[in-house]
Amino acid sequence: MSKIRLTNLGIVLTERCNLNCIHCMRGCSLAHDMDIKTMQNIFKQVDFVNNLTICGGEPMIDEELFTSLIDTIISSQFLLGSLSFITNGTCYNDAIASQLLRLDEYINHLFKDNYRSCNVALSFDEYHIEQIKEHPLSEQYFHNMAKLLSSPYYCGLVDINEIYDSGNAKKLDIPKMAIEAYSQYYYEKKGKLDHGPLLSILSDGTISECDGEFTYLREHFNYGNINTDALENIIKKRAVKCYTKVGFNYHVNTSQKNFHKI
Ligand code: SF4
Repeated sequence: MSKIRLTNLGIVLTERCNLNCIHCMRGCSLAHDMDIKTMQNIFKQVDFVNNLTICGGEPMIDEELFTSLIDTIISSQFLLGSLSFITNGTCYNDAIASQLLRLDEYINHLFKDNYRSCNVALSFDEYHIEQIKEHPLSEQYFHNMAKLLSSPYYCGLVDINEIYDSGNAKKLDIPKMAIEAYSQYYYEKKGKLDHGPLLSILSDGTISECDGEFTYLREHFNYGNINTDALENIIKKRAVKCYTKVGFNYHVNTSQKNFHKI
């Protein structure tokens, strides 16, 4: 079995959201949360992620769920290059901040002399503003935004690059992008399998690769499940084999649980 190293991994922690933006490609909020077994299976099967993104729904909607994820990352001694959360900002609070601090300490333990922090990116575009301005959570949102902006975790605003023809956005009368699969590739050498550009794992463990409405992804971009399938087999079945190396920024020494920049 090869050690799997992913360039980018998106984890959908929950499909719940407390907003209902008109451009949301995810569609309506679904009461689906990732369970601990699924989190553990991800971190068991994947040896390293260069860029880990935690998204939703709203990934900070449930403190207990959020804490379970941080606990699982830390207890599994999972190796990663960087970690980002994409949030609508309404649920950020002191309890979430204290979990981010734990994660930060863990990341810094991995990188030792090379300080870095986990990142929180705030969704902020004309549609989110429209959604929040008359919303009962608007006061909370601006209060949280001020807190986030002065925290060490805030890394920027996420504006819209394109609107996908998916979920709530189907009703918008504007130019939209179709949901398409990425071209996946992998490189294998000496028991290590590097994959790019992106994999996503939905809250129930479905292995997918693109953005869009969760029910649609499960029907049309469903490559298996991290709880029942070997990720290595799925990658080899779906992705093109490359004969040149996929470019990671970090060399991982898994025996010492330490990273060395190359
Ligand atoms: S765009 Fe983001 S914040 Fe808005 S409804 Fe969708 S998941 Fe929630």
